[in-house]
Amino acid sequence: MMGRRRAALDAIADTFVPGCVERGVTEAFVRLFVTRLSAGERRRLDALLALFAARGFHRLPRARRERVLLAWGDSRVAVRRTAFEGLRRGLLVLSWSLPGAPWDELGYPGPLGVDPDAPAKPLAPIAAAGELRLDCEVCVIGSGAGGGTAAAVLASAGLDVVVLEAGGYFGPPDFDGAELAGLQRLYLDGGGTATDDQGVGILAGACLGGGTVVNYTTSFRLPDAVRSEWGGPFTSEVFSRSLDAVCARLGVNTDHNRLSTREAKVVLGLERLGWHVGRMPRDVVGCDQGRVCGYCGYGCRLGAKQSADRTWLVDAAAHGARIVVGARVERIFPGPVVEAGAVTVRAQKVVVACGAIHTPALLRRSGLGNRWVGRNLHLHPVAGALGFFDEEIRPWEGTLQAIHSDEFADLDGGHGFRYETTAAHPSLAAAFLPWRGSGEHEELMRGLRNAVPLGVLLRDRDAGEVRGGRPVVRYRLSAYDAAHLERGLEGAVEVLRAAGARRVVTSRGPRAPIVHSFHQLGTARMGGSPELSACDWEGALWDAPDVVVCDGSTFPTASGVNPMVTISAVAHMNALALAARV
Ligand SMILES: Cc1cc2nc3c(=O)[nH]c(=O)nc-3n(C[C@H](O)[C@H](O)[C@H](O)COP(=O)(O)OP(=O)(O)OC[C@H]3O[C@@H](n4cnc5c(N)ncnc54)[C@H](O)[C@@H]3O)c2cc1C
Repeated sequence: MMGRRRAALDAIADTFVPGCVERGVTEAFVRLFVTRLSAGERRRLDALLALFAARGFHRLPRARRERVLLAWGDSRVAVRRTAFEGLRRGLLVLSWSLPGAPWDELGYPGPLGVDPDAPAKPLAPIAAAGELRLDCEVCVIGSGAGGGTAAAVLASAGLDVVVLEAGGYFGPPDFDGAELAGLQRLYLDGGGTATDDQGVGILAGACLGGGTVVNYTTSFRLPDAVRSEWGGPFTSEVFSRSLDAVCARLGVNTDHNRLSTREAKVVLGLERLGWHVGRMPRDVVGCDQGRVCGYCGYGCRLGAKQSADRTWLVDAAAHGARIVVGARVERIFPGPVVEAGAVTVRAQKVVVACGAIHTPALLRRSGLGNRWVGRNLHLHPVAGALGFFDEEIRPWEGTLQAIHSDEFADLDGGHGFRYETTAAHPSLAAAFLPWRGSGEHEELMRGLRNAVPLGVLLRDRDAGEVRGGRPVVRYRLSAYDAAHLERGLEGAVEVLRAAGARRVVTSRGPRAPIVHSFHQLGTARMGGSPELSACDWEGALWDAPDVVVCDGSTFPTASGVNPMVTISAVAHMNALALAARV
């Protein structure tokens, strides 16, 4: 990007965070985000920058530039708000994560650095390079919570399994806790994915092990009320046994709940209000629950997190499964034959486990599945509040998630929200904070070391959809769900105030809260009939039973709790059924 458009982009970046252009933020924005845009998105960005350039935005004084950006953010015109939000999120995240960011001013120590004594990586996957033709009984596409578990179950049942994973293989010796490197290597689209209106930022894993490598280790079983709501096998002993098997393999325990300084404040606030506090079940063994744990969203340097690449995929490999990384599957052809660039796999059965954004896209590209494919998207929207205290908190440290509150989990028919917290590193905090001018933004960020984050995790009743073979995510928070989220934000302010915060800022924007999704679910739902679901009760597509879905896409509705254990249990159950059929 050159010339006038580039000058406009530089001016926009400098308006959000003064001085960030000199630190290479726009350069990185173009390289990391703009190059990933679809042709249509790229055209819209070019048109926007041309408009800003034509109006001489870059020649305006800072105060005027800020007013222009805020007017776009508050605009009644949806495309203006979309443009503002896309630029806000991308530029702020880069401003605070690019090496050279003024972390000293925040008291943020920056990345941990690699640990020369980190535990070794246990797998030796094949790196897709050049032509590769493989034959097997089951080809598993995607290696996250669902795909990893399915591969382990199928290989342990004696089947010849090939796992194809689009992302790369990273483990403890690679993890240095750097936000930008972590986002780029481990997250879907470098953390830059969002809904088509930028209303919800979407975070998902995209490496060997998928979301289990970056997730916060919270390991809830599916609540009984949701099991009853889902019906079918979910009320059966079969599913209970799969839940037990998953929790056993992941070593789920409540012995790693040492409170960080930030969560001690949250507990204080909850207790003073008389609200529920629960201890978090976690899938960690030997977690330090301290400084290193706070960086775990960018990979666990200790190898304490029981991610799929340290559990299920190890089991699969021990039973002969071949694992290929850097293999993005383009299509499943009849046969079935799976094609991932120069890698071709001929199989008897195919397991699709690309996560709820990419599973429907792959099925669409392959001409598979009924009208339910892509529909019923649940995002568990998360908004939050940041409470500022007099004492130092260092919110980037300490156990990722040691406690939760279910006080409002059931406001109406099982729908409501849960309170959870996590370590707040600068770019994650910036992504959640509304931007109301560079001065206020800088002040909030400088206060981060004294801040306690509190997240509101919504069980969304209403759904969006994933369209197309190159996924476009459409999701609008319904008035029903928005009311619950608003209640959640009000309560979050109460908790932080009760704990003694002198100021609380929420992720409320002028028109809608800033929302992110850490859980994507439901886009190939299981069910009892093709009229109501994409897959049958064993995850097989109604119109192509050789293709079995084994990931978060299978959920009939939102689980309400963090879904990893449930996804693994569904994959476990579906893979056992598939193994019996093969
Ligand atoms: C930051 C973060 C924190 C989280 N914390 C928690 C938590 O504490 N507890 C919890 O329960 N849940 C948590 N989650 C959510 C949980 O990790 C995910 O819901 C879960 O991993 C999803 O499992 P999945 O099998 O559906 O997909 P994923 O685990 O996302 O795996 C899908 C895999 O498929 C690959 N893929 C996609 N397309 C293709 C293709 N075409 N070809 C080949 N491979 C492909 C992807 O690269 C990815 O590795 C968190 C998520 C995030 C992002």
